[in-house]
Amino acid sequence: MITLFDSIKKQKLKFEPISPKQVRIYVCGPTVYDDAHLGHARSSIAFDLWRRLFLFLDFKVIFAKNFTDIDDKIIKKSLQNGISVEEVSERYIELYLNDMHALGILRPDLEPKATSNLPQMHEMIEQLLQKGYAYKGENNDVYLSIAKDKAYGSLSQRTTHEQNQSRITNANDKQEESDFALWKGYKGEDDIAYDSPFGKGRPGWHIECSAMIEKHLAYDMREKQEYEKQEFAIDIHAGGADLLFPHHENEASQTRCATGRELAKYWLHNGFVNINGEKMSKSLGNSFFIKDALKVYDGEILRNYLLGVHYRLALNFNEEDLLQSKKRLDKIYRLKKRIMAERIADSIPQTKALDSTELADQLESLNTLKTHTKNAQDSFIKPLLEALSDDYNISKALSIIEEMLSISNDYLDKNPKDKAYKLAISGNLACIEYLLGLGDKDPTLYFQLGLTEQERQDIESKLQARTEAKKQKNYVLADSIRDELKSQGIEIMDTPQGSTWEKI
Ligand SMILES: [Zn+2]
Repeated sequence: MITLFDSIKKQKLKFEPISPKQVRIYVCGPTVYDDAHLGHARSSIAFDLWRRLFLFLDFKVIFAKNFTDIDDKIIKKSLQNGISVEEVSERYIELYLNDMHALGILRPDLEPKATSNLPQMHEMIEQLLQKGYAYKGENNDVYLSIAKDKAYGSLSQRTTHEQNQSRITNANDKQEESDFALWKGYKGEDDIAYDSPFGKGRPGWHIECSAMIEKHLAYDMREKQEYEKQEFAIDIHAGGADLLFPHHENEASQTRCATGRELAKYWLHNGFVNINGEKMSKSLGNSFFIKDALKVYDGEILRNYLLGVHYRLALNFNEEDLLQSKKRLDKIYRLKKRIMAERIADSIPQTKALDSTELADQLESLNTLKTHTKNAQDSFIKPLLEALSDDYNISKALSIIEEMLSISNDYLDKNPKDKAYKLAISGNLACIEYLLGLGDKDPTLYFQLGLTEQERQDIESKLQARTEAKKQKNYVLADSIRDELKSQGIEIMDTPQGSTWEKI
């Protein structure tokens, strides 16, 4: 049984999918006018974890995340830089996808863009006008009248005021202050405009998610008859806690009024990332951008840190905690290295789950990995899945992993040649890799992270020189090379297969 905390009902609910063994998830994606920040990273990781859990439990998952590529901020950036809005959005979409790839996020099944879905938005706005929920203002503006939606406020327990006034450039033609724009009429030369049945202009922010969910997840993927009897458009709508009001409230209202059904059966919201101002970091500066964190830390190390705090809680980002959490990842790789060193069998998974940015390749890698998870110990995987299925209880899951690592190491100390046991451990590690997206690197490479290619080459040639010196019984030279590398933070390990090294 899976339970999840529904942020509308404010309690843990048993997850019952709309269609058996299927789950449709929509996550509000970024507005692409700037680099992605740690808040984006956290949200992406949180719902990537949920997605992996559903996939592991053999659900058919349809996962969508949009790109908001029409927005005031994008227009502003294009004017500032003298480039088109398309160039701005395309640039930041590419950078966003690179960041997500580095963080080990599975690529969504669907990545709808606002600019590619204008007809769907027009259609929904027309429905809202026809049914009397929306009205036209001056200058081709169209608003939703929230007074007409009796259920407005049911998500956030908020109704009026404190709306996103900043998005409304001309509030004079609204009937009520808290009505929000579905379509914004063209305002002049610094604006951009698309044709529509309501005149030139551009869509409001909220309508894009409702229209894209309706089109791609609710309608396109169902038989007509099945579509018509649905009470909910999708299973899970997710996003950052800051989106609950007004964005999600408005999305839900539009869908309810236009289609007569609720937008989502369950609503999940992830907590914020807080940065401790000046104290935050020496090496990161006070940057909130993923790209700057990635200059200092490998994406997997960042992922490992960001997933360690329950997805609904706030995370106070600081590098001390990040380095502390890295020890957990080190232990995973240490065990992986230990069982791989003896080359027990080809049955140890060697997948690179996220080598490709193509979803099909990623899912294929996950399928391959799944075959290895069959070797996992029941005593490990059962409680692990139980913890994750309980509203993604990550602290419990991590302590189960910690315990498994420690028991495995103790056992291997006493029984270093037990191949069956090693195979079971490789199964356990495959489960961690699949579910948490951790541990997919070659362990030797993992312990060499943080060096440039040039530095790696220098170390390799010194290592070779040392091997040569040892062959010629020049132990003084061999030892001096070892000491020299050690002073650079490089430790040499001599194994029956030859010498390797790690960055310590
Ligand atoms: Zn949205």
